[in-house]
Amino acid sequence: MELDNKIVGQLFTHLHRYFAECLTLTRQTMSECELCKSAHVIHPLLCQYCYDDLPLFSYQHFGFNLLNWPAIDKLFPQRSFEQLLCLAPYIAPFDQWLIDFKYQKRFELADLLGYLLAELWQKQVNKQQDVAILSVPIHLKKWQQRGFNQAHLIARAFNRRTKIPYLRQALRRTTYSKSQVGQSGKLRRKLLKNAFALSEEVDTLPSHIILLDDVITTGSTVNTLCKLLKLKGVKHITVLTVALTLPK
Ligand SMILES: [Zn+2]
Repeated sequence: MELDNKIVGQLFTHLHRYFAECLTLTRQTMSECELCKSAHVIHPLLCQYCYDDLPLFSYQHFGFNLLNWPAIDKLFPQRSFEQLLCLAPYIAPFDQWLIDFKYQKRFELADLLGYLLAELWQKQVNKQQDVAILSVPIHLKKWQQRGFNQAHLIARAFNRRTKIPYLRQALRRTTYSKSQVGQSGKLRRKLLKNAFALSEEVDTLPSHIILLDDVITTGSTVNTLCKLLKLKGVKHITVLTVALTLPK
């Protein structure tokens, strides 16, 4: 009887291992590159070849700051942030990834974008110590309608990979507005005045903030937030974003 129990125990152990291996194998085979369908991936959705082919901005000549590039510098003449880090222009595959994420609810793309942003961030030589991540908030009503905030989901993935503290509740959007698409910069700035607030629960902020958004177009939204953060004593702001809409 004692022996039978031992055999049954071993059988269960073997079965458990077998199913665990099947699950791992299924997960591995499910991982395939978004772009070329290769199974040899460096991230569950991307292979090394396609990673090397991504139209990423080069930081080699710009001291790890896109604002040092005259063409980008002139896009943001009145800015309240010191550094701009962006993965790529708003072109393929980033435009499609952001559309699929937002409208097809492909949340797994948040992890891919967070991974790519973390890879970019970690290439920086001078790592700051007193730093935290904030993401551009949306109004609670919009969050409830849509069910998610894409900037928050990307910030969460970025935080998981870099381990930089993420103050997810620090910023609130206090005014509700319909989409800003198609509005002029002047009108956007007017609508954005007093649109955000810092949570009462936040006593002090670190001297360096990474402000994360999915796409930067006119920069009005991030700039409004940066002004608010500077009033609260923040000294250095890095705007970190997936894509940048460049003028035609
Ligand atoms: Zn690929």
